[in-house]
Amino acid sequence: MIIPAYVARNARKYPKHEAVIDGSLRATWQQLEQHVNQFAEHLACDHHIKAGDRVCLVLPNSYTFIVAHFAVQRLGAIVSPINVKLTASELAYIFENADASLVITCDLTSSHALKACSELKLTSLVINNIIDHVAQYSSGRTFTQLDQQALFEPATLLYTSGTTGRPKGVLFNHKALLFVGMMFATEMHYRPESRLLSLMPFTHSAPLNLTLVGGTLIGSTHIVAPTFTPDLLLNLVQQERATHFFGAPVAYLLTAQHPAIQKTNLSSMTHWIYGGGPLAGDHARRVQQAFGSDQFYCVYGLTEAGPTGSLLLPNEHAEKAGSVGQRAAAFTEIRVVNKNGDICANNEPGEIHIGGEGVMTEYWRNEQATQDIFTNDGWIRTGDIGLRDDDGFYWVKDRIKDLIISGGVNVYPREVEDALASHPAVLEAAVIGVPHDEWGETVKACVVLREAIEEEALRAHVAERLADYKCPRVYAFMDELPHNANGKVLKHQLR
Ligand code: ATP
Repeated sequence: MIIPAYVARNARKYPKHEAVIDGSLRATWQQLEQHVNQFAEHLACDHHIKAGDRVCLVLPNSYTFIVAHFAVQRLGAIVSPINVKLTASELAYIFENADASLVITCDLTSSHALKACSELKLTSLVINNIIDHVAQYSSGRTFTQLDQQALFEPATLLYTSGTTGRPKGVLFNHKALLFVGMMFATEMHYRPESRLLSLMPFTHSAPLNLTLVGGTLIGSTHIVAPTFTPDLLLNLVQQERATHFFGAPVAYLLTAQHPAIQKTNLSSMTHWIYGGGPLAGDHARRVQQAFGSDQFYCVYGLTEAGPTGSLLLPNEHAEKAGSVGQRAAAFTEIRVVNKNGDICANNEPGEIHIGGEGVMTEYWRNEQATQDIFTNDGWIRTGDIGLRDDDGFYWVKDRIKDLIISGGVNVYPREVEDALASHPAVLEAAVIGVPHDEWGETVKACVVLREAIEEEALRAHVAERLADYKCPRVYAFMDELPHNANGKVLKHQLR
């Protein structure tokens, strides 16, 4: 199968080069190839996994995850990495929806997964040390098939995080993964010497397809750890001389205010990449200052599109931070379309569509949702409202579903969040609509402070920047905002 064929290719081309660093475990491409083959043999012989079967991984970022990911794909089966933080009932919903044949987990993340498996009478496999686990299996079988057809075989089933409803399965074939991975490898200048740090969970499309798949196409080294903390990010960059990191904006904001950042040597880093949301207002400048680098790249996209979309480059941040750049990423197209289906004029808001070779094949067993998201010409309707400015830069104003309609007028929560975040005392802000008898909805701000400030002072700061109808009427000061595993604010929980 195409994607794991790159593991085999790297094992031939760079046998002694480090493929994965996971704590004290360091595996070369030759070792990874051997373990992938051994594990594939185990899955085929003992669990009867065959082409087209779904195998769910409830595993943190780890060597085990990487071996399992490529082994499942090597059998022509579909790998489905699932968020380890889900409850037993959320996991059961996904296992059932995926019609999984097997669930692979480890002691660290197994409690909910095993409960869900026992409810569904589903086979599970708990692996704590993949190298010991596969030791008795042969690695001699040739699995790799590189025929034309293999390109179009399904490879990965990713579940959306459900910030806008029940998670849906997003199916990718090998061709889409190849294009998404190559897009990112090209745009982020991956090289065999690159050292890609993955602390955001591989259960999300960006760390999985942009970093794990993209880096594997080139033969770069993967540095992995089970979770993100500012300490871990700083320590691993310094110790392992990482070159690339992908994180949500909140990961950068938290690290920027960590005292250890001043003493950490971050000079190996060539690419600080963020996505999933903007680093808007003053945030980009503050983060750049704290990290002592201007090599920041913003990626815009969504799971269904690979994620491919557009990129904001380092030299564009000074003028256009908060936008998502002025061009589609390689092999990708982007457009803004109005209600009549016409391309919007500059500065006219409309829905953003993304097209290209990296987009998903379909929503898993959900024809209606698939029909709804694809346009007639095969582009993805992102559900984002955006616009293109006079300089050709795209701005994502908000998700259509998050739009607040107050007294019949549209308020884009992100615009209000940016105004709040531009105050130095604000660490993070989320804005939602709450019911109001007269106006239908009114604007509420949920704010996490980095230093104490009076509510009145914050109100005044926002009032200087926004029209009165956009200004929050209600404020809630919180210790932290609820985030999903990828660092996104869970607005439905706030509502
Ligand atoms: P679900 O689809 O279930 O709600 P999710 O929000 O985690 O889950 P993603 O595909 O990760 O799903 O989210 C994609 C959305 O995130 C985009 O449609 C857009 O609204 C937002 N987004 C992604 N990158 C950026 C960015 N760089 N700037 C602004 N918004 C972004």
